Amino acid sequence: MMSSYIGRFAPSPTGALHHGSLLAALASWCAARSVNGRWLVRIEDIDTPRCQPHFAANILDTLGQYGLSWDGDVIYQSQRHHHYREALQYLQQQGDIFWCDCSRSDLNKTGYSIYQGKCRTFLTQRPHSAARLRVPDNSLIQFNDAVFGTQQDDISQTVGDFVLFRRDGLFAYQLAVVVDDALQGITEVVRGADLLDNTTRQIYLQRRLKLASVAYCHVPLVTNILGEKLSKQTGAQALSTKHPSAMLYLCLQQLGQHPPIELQYDTKETILSWAARHWSAANIPKRLTV
Ligand code: GLU
Repeated sequence: MMSSYIGRFAPSPTGALHHGSLLAALASWCAARSVNGRWLVRIEDIDTPRCQPHFAANILDTLGQYGLSWDGDVIYQSQRHHHYREALQYLQQQGDIFWCDCSRSDLNKTGYSIYQGKCRTFLTQRPHSAARLRVPDNSLIQFNDAVFGTQQDDISQTVGDFVLFRRDGLFAYQLAVVVDDALQGITEVVRGADLLDNTTRQIYLQRRLKLASVAYCHVPLVTNILGEKLSKQTGAQALSTKHPSAMLYLCLQQLGQHPPIELQYDTKETILSWAARHWSAANIPKRLTV
């Protein structure tokens, strides 16, 4: 019987699937399959200038080659602008957003790293303006992460009024991710630790939109020899699909799951089935040791 758990993998198609994204996809897949839940894939191609359709195709193909099968249809954020617009309109009616035409250099000139509220009085849309979410003083947000434990952040001190709709006319990641996680009924977000410090912003936004809260589990980052997160910019290699079993085995070791040694020579199906049956989020380390 299916459980009520719904997980997801939400890659941005700015490059091919690499080791770090496979680690996050595998963790999220295992978390869902271990409780007989659903696992969805959402292509986050909202930042159109940086995204390319062939990367989305590569990511889906590679997931398939690794045996990470998803439920239902893949959704594409580039086709869901109406949902983001509706959420923005709701926030506008609540008086939660304002329209800011400050350029990057205007903001740099203030000498502060966080936004100082200059345009807070502009409540209706203006040309070439970003929509920022108002973050009042003392906006302390707390949550429990399955790997990193209790996290807390006063986002008025660390980020301030943040952008939901960009000056260049694109919806921001923070808005799209929160709206889609809610519309898809996601119960737990499992993703890379590079997004740990985005989570308090997303929880704050969920609350302003009166959306259900979500559980979080951030998995360790895979870095290159310079300690940089793997990405297209840092020269991450696209994953080879030649030896999926060996790679899945390595990822399970990195996720602290202690797969038995003989499993590494088995089929990807057997490895994944073992992983789903033995999954323990409590064993995931904060940093990679393997
Ligand atoms: N699309 C984001 C990325 O590829 C991940 C978003 C998320 O998992 O919340 O970095």
